[in-house]
Amino acid sequence: MQLATKVDLKLSNGKSIPALGLGTVPPEDPSELKQQVITAIKAGYRHIDTAWYYGTEKYIGQALKELFDEGVIKREDLFVTTKVWPSFWHSPEKSLDKSLEDLGLDYVDLFMQHWPVALHGDENGLPPAPKHDDGSLWYDDDPVTGTKFIETYHKMEDIIDKTSKVKSIGVSNYSIPKLKQLLPKVRKYAPVVNQIELHPQLPQLELVDYCKSKGIVVVAYSPVGSNGAPVLKVPLIQELAKKYDVTTNEITNAYHVLNGRGVLPRSSNLERIKTIIRLPQLSEDDLKKLDQVGLQNPKRYICDSWGYGLGFRYWEGDTLSTEFD
Ligand code: NDP
Repeated sequence: MQLATKVDLKLSNGKSIPALGLGTVPPEDPSELKQQVITAIKAGYRHIDTAWYYGTEKYIGQALKELFDEGVIKREDLFVTTKVWPSFWHSPEKSLDKSLEDLGLDYVDLFMQHWPVALHGDENGLPPAPKHDDGSLWYDDDPVTGTKFIETYHKMEDIIDKTSKVKSIGVSNYSIPKLKQLLPKVRKYAPVVNQIELHPQLPQLELVDYCKSKGIVVVAYSPVGSNGAPVLKVPLIQELAKKYDVTTNEITNAYHVLNGRGVLPRSSNLERIKTIIRLPQLSEDDLKKLDQVGLQNPKRYICDSWGYGLGFRYWEGDTLSTEFD
């Protein structure tokens, strides 16, 4: 059977991204990340997805150093991403420098804006979730109408022009309204990727089609719905795992890879990391049936407060979602 670790997707700037990436949101003990990264790369993964916000970059850095020192893989054969968090919106290069230092790298392959909002962090991006006395999030800009997130993007473009610290830039958690705000303002380097929550319970077909029409590769996060893996309980996914004789994780990965998207599974279980890399050739009909799961009964699992108001469909009470209705 073909391996998902061998599939590359072409980016609009001519570079490519390995479709299967390892997610690195921290487990209870973040130092476990070191072994997870080593296991993944030895199993053939070439894409590691991280972010300043996760606090796991130094453990990833330890893993990479060991792998490079032992000659297991070369830096140029790996695709490493990181992201600038909204509380660091004013200083993406400073955020990047911290990430590079912890990762022990001179450059990342992809630097993304984590969310298109501006939170009130200090010069070191702290605290990551600043709050007013009444407990509400402290923004530096109106999350719906503000444009400071575009300033962040422009500073990310400058990093490409003025340094060799990033190969490509991209975005994450951009809805259609946010992309429509950003894209006309791009100066030189369009986002090559939009990383969003995506799985059969949340197919977001309008957003996926919109990204495709703009040459933006979609990368799916929380492919099994995050902790507890609720997506894997969907009966159709279990049926398809039996039909194609693979694990349910391989069905949720194939759902993206066969549709030309990236996917970022995360696991603390080293055996699982190693064994979810086969790519069953799901039929067109089965891929469409997987879309139907979420079209009929959509579920969003990552509902952090800074995402509210960005215009994501199925975000209960979202002020912008009527745009699609
Ligand atoms: P996933 O959707 O990959 O879910 C991971 C969880 O599912 C783990 O707790 C894992 O447990 C469990 N799991 C997986 N398979 C099984 C199985 N077969 N049986 C039981 N449990 C299972 O998680 P994430 O939300 O972390 O998303 C993946 C990655 O995407 C992140 O790590 C991060 O890199 C990125 N991301 C990006 C975001 C953004 O805003 N840009 C937001 C969220 C994620 P176990 O450890 O036991 O395997």
